[in-house]
Amino acid sequence: MSTISSISLVIPVYNEEDNLPILYREIATALERVEKTAEILLVDDGSKDRSLDVIKALADGDARVRFLAFAENRGQSAAFAAGFQHAAGDVIVTMDSDLQNDPADIPALLATYEQGHDMVIGWRANRKDTWVKRMTSKIGNAIRNRISRETVKDTGCSLKVMRADMARRIPMFNGMHRFLPTLMKLQGARVAEVAVNHRPRVHGRSKYGVLDRAMTTWYDLIAVRWMQLRYIDYRIKEKN
Ligand code: UDP
Ligand code: MG
Repeated sequence: MSTISSISLVIPVYNEEDNLPILYREIATALERVEKTAEILLVDDGSKDRSLDVIKALADGDARVRFLAFAENRGQSAAFAAGFQHAAGDVIVTMDSDLQNDPADIPALLATYEQGHDMVIGWRANRKDTWVKRMTSKIGNAIRNRISRETVKDTGCSLKVMRADMARRIPMFNGMHRFLPTLMKLQGARVAEVAVNHRPRVHGRSKYGVLDRAMTTWYDLIAVRWMQLRYIDYRIKEKN
């Protein structure tokens, strides 16, 4: 059993002005089915559109909405890292702000968490992205699993639930958001995978190109493998 007393949704935002009001309504509906104290922590990653104004309006209307706004765009990993540090809940729920993840999946992920896991990750069983993106992601997952000795179906799905104190101890670097299950397992996290809904992006644009993502992820993978082999892990048996 893993108990939950309060949850923090940590959601990175970069130029998502049209998605935010819809996202907020969907989250509010999903939270009606979750009997926990909740905060919705929106991390504005230096948006150049009106996202921050929309976030402030949402925060004015609902005390559960909190925000952090970066001075400049620093990337999705930086936004997650900042969100983890500032989250008040003992359990963190991460998701994208572009409506590709479905907040309606949150109650099921939390239920799996409570069965005795430290992390529950969504996998997009029926992914609504372009063919090129689906293929590169498939190849990426296969290479990543091979090198990091993992069997994770889909690390690219942002919809995840994780124990907050563990999330805060993850080694933080740009790109770490693509390796969260592996980085959590360094601390011995028990990880479960649950199939989740996925939807096409309707408003705004994807922030990543296929080639640059593949190249940086390859570099990060070597670092993650190194970390798996070199991570300091001990349990104190006795002390005075
Ligand atoms: N994002 C961010 N900073 C960035 C790039 C993306 O906070 O520099 C956010 C973005 O607003 C979205 C999520 O990260 O909520 C995933 O980005 P995107 O949808 O562009 O990625 P894709 O779904 O195409 O992989
Ligand atoms: Mg997206």
